[in-house]
Amino acid sequence: MPSIHDPDDKGRHPLPLDHTRQNPRNPFNFVGTHKIHLELTQRCQAMCPMCDRCYGGMLNKHLSNADLPLDLIKQRIPHKFVSRLSSVLMCGNFGDPIFHPDLLGVVDHFASHGHGAQIRRVVTNGGYRDPSWWSDLAKTKTYVTFSIDGLEDTNHIYRKNVKWETVMRSATAFNMAGGKSKWVFLAFKHNEHQIEEARELSRRMGFEAFTVKKSARFVSPVNMNLKDFDEIQPPDNPKYRNEAVENFDPSQFEGKIRCRALNLDNMRGTIREKSRLGNNEIFISALGEVLPCCWLGSAMYKTWESPRENDVWRLIDKVGYENILLKNHSLKSIINGKFYEELGASWKIDPVKMCKFKCSEKFDGYGEQFK
Ligand code: SF4
Ligand code: SF4
Repeated sequence: MPSIHDPDDKGRHPLPLDHTRQNPRNPFNFVGTHKIHLELTQRCQAMCPMCDRCYGGMLNKHLSNADLPLDLIKQRIPHKFVSRLSSVLMCGNFGDPIFHPDLLGVVDHFASHGHGAQIRRVVTNGGYRDPSWWSDLAKTKTYVTFSIDGLEDTNHIYRKNVKWETVMRSATAFNMAGGKSKWVFLAFKHNEHQIEEARELSRRMGFEAFTVKKSARFVSPVNMNLKDFDEIQPPDNPKYRNEAVENFDPSQFEGKIRCRALNLDNMRGTIREKSRLGNNEIFISALGEVLPCCWLGSAMYKTWESPRENDVWRLIDKVGYENILLKNHSLKSIINGKFYEELGASWKIDPVKMCKFKCSEKFDGYGEQFK
């Protein structure tokens, strides 16, 4: 678990957790929000076949290469809010954060106003930007998770269009400049034999950690017959298979909802410890939509569905799409507002499919990825 201490921090501390709830019908609350997940862009050079950006090898028809503007971030995520954040994750559903035109500016906004123990983390394929840019990122004390699924002869089988030389050059520059990083290796049949070799390479290259990730995406809400999936198969070795996926039964989706955005000790793989600072995480998409988690953001734009077809829109349309947009409202009024209230109420009556898929207490495909 990375711990990034800012030597310039002169004893500033995050605000204590305030359990005050503005609305007893709303399980989320602004004052309890201490973690933020940003999807900075919808851009990426890669075509990973199980990603919502390009599921099955086809570019998602709903995307527009949107970027979350730095000006909007500065305006709507003010210093006071930044100062209490324990975690800033830059990842997302549809793009790679290193393609944001001013990622260093975004990081600087959080680094300049965050407390010393704030964890800032970028998740990337690493296949873009020159070495000096990576050195500059290292100086910001931002933790980087490089998603590298194999070695020179295999990484591109899943990370299509990602050039091995560029990834190696990026990671080397970042690590050599003192950056803290982790190599996350998504295990498949075509790369499982290289796991120990990759682990050894990660040590030689100065990565702080190496993790094998067991994909949960072999269980899908749709049954699509897509050509690219022929070559993307689960590993043979049971220790690299996702146990929840192996034992999957559709009746598990009928379990009680245990919202992970409210139970962050179980979120994000590396941030496992029970948070002392607060529970709520929020997700802000490249379009500026404010949601409890990235999964609802991905549900809104499934490539195989028509616009507004997914049942999450049932709740959004009830409160009005314009009312979950950061350009129109403050974070506080969105989180304490109607959409979050409707979502919480839906869990007891008729949860949307994505909440059942990700947070039914009987199915833990997400948590099993990192075990
Ligand atoms: S690198 Fe990330 S954003 Fe880009 S296609 Fe792959 S999974 Fe999707
Ligand atoms: S999918 Fe639904 S239940 Fe799960 S974290 Fe997101 S909002 Fe909460």
